[in-house]
Amino acid sequence: MTTHEGRLAGKVALITGAARGLGAQIARRFHDEGATPIITDLSESACRELADELGGDAFALDVTQSAAVTEVFAKVAANHGRLDILVNNAGISGMEDRPEEVQRGYDIAMAQMADTMAGNPPSVHPDVTLRTTDQDWHRVLAVHLDGTFFCTREAMRIMGPKRSGAIINLSSIMGTSGGSGASAYCAAKAGILGLTRAHAREFVSQGIRVNAIAPGWIETAMTDALGPMRPLIAAQTPMGRMGDTDDIAWAAVYLASEEAKFVTGQVLSPNGGWYMSQ
Ligand code: NDP
Repeated sequence: MTTHEGRLAGKVALITGAARGLGAQIARRFHDEGATPIITDLSESACRELADELGGDAFALDVTQSAAVTEVFAKVAANHGRLDILVNNAGISGMEDRPEEVQRGYDIAMAQMADTMAGNPPSVHPDVTLRTTDQDWHRVLAVHLDGTFFCTREAMRIMGPKRSGAIINLSSIMGTSGGSGASAYCAAKAGILGLTRAHAREFVSQGIRVNAIAPGWIETAMTDALGPMRPLIAAQTPMGRMGDTDDIAWAAVYLASEEAKFVTGQVLSPNGGWYMSQ
C-alpha cells in the first residue's frame, strides 16, 4: 500500500475497464492521491502493465460474468480486507466494430443539415434501430447494466459491514440528453443513473455514497472510433473541443474523496457545456 498523503490516502479502489482510457487515468489520479488502485479489465496483460506502473493488484475481469465478478471481489477481500472505492467504468459504445454505421451517421447528419439549410424537410433518416440486432442490443446492456449491478453487489459485501465506501458509476451525456443512433447505449447509460439513485438510497444507511459521472465527449479509443464525426462533435461543444481523460479523472477523485461526504445520488457531468441539465 502506498504511504504518501493525498485526498485518497490509504484507500483501496477497484476500477473496472481500467487498462486504458478513462479507467486508466482514474487509476493514475487515485494513485497520485494516495489510493491503492486495483486494475481490472478484459485483458490480463494490459491490466498487469498498468498495475506494475502504479503498484497495485491486477485482475482479468469481464464484468458481464457474474461468477467471475464474485471471484475477483473475494480475492480483493482476502488480499486487502477492505474496499473503499468502486468505479464501475467498463463500457462499450456498441459501434466499435461497426465503422460503416459511424460513417452512415455522419453522412445522414450532413444531409439533414443541408436539407434544413435549404428549407426542406429531412430527406434521409438514421434508422439505426432497424439495423440493430437482438445481440447488439443485449451486448451493450450487459456490459453497462449487468456489469454495474454485479460489481456493486459484490463490492457491497465488503463495504457494507465496514459502514463506509464510495461507488462511482460511469454514465454519459447520452444517458441524460439522449442521442440519435445509439439507443442501446443511451438506454444503458440512463439505466445506470437509475441504478445510481436506487443504490444511493439503499446504501445510505450503511454510510456508502453512490454517484454517477456523465462525461461529455472525451478523447479515448472509444471516441477515436467516431472518425469523421469528431470535428462535428467539437463544433457542437460550447468549449470548442472534446475533453481529455483528466477532465473525468478529477471528477472521480472528488466524488471518491471526503470532500464529497455530503454528496450521494448525484450526477456530475464534465462536458464542456454540451449539455447543461441532468
Ligand atoms: P475505452 O474503450 O477507451 O475503454 C473501455 C475499457 O473497458 C476498455 O479497456 C475495454 O476493454 C473495457 N471493457 C469493455 N468491455 C468490458 C467488459 N465486458 N468487462 C470489463 N471491461 C470491459 O472507453 P472510455 O475510456 O472512453 O470509456 C470508459 C467509460 O466511460 C465507459 O463506460 C464509457 O461508456 C464511458 N463514457 C465515455 C465517454 C467518452 O467520450 N470517451 C463519454 C461518456 C461516457 P478492451 O480494451 O479489451 O475492449
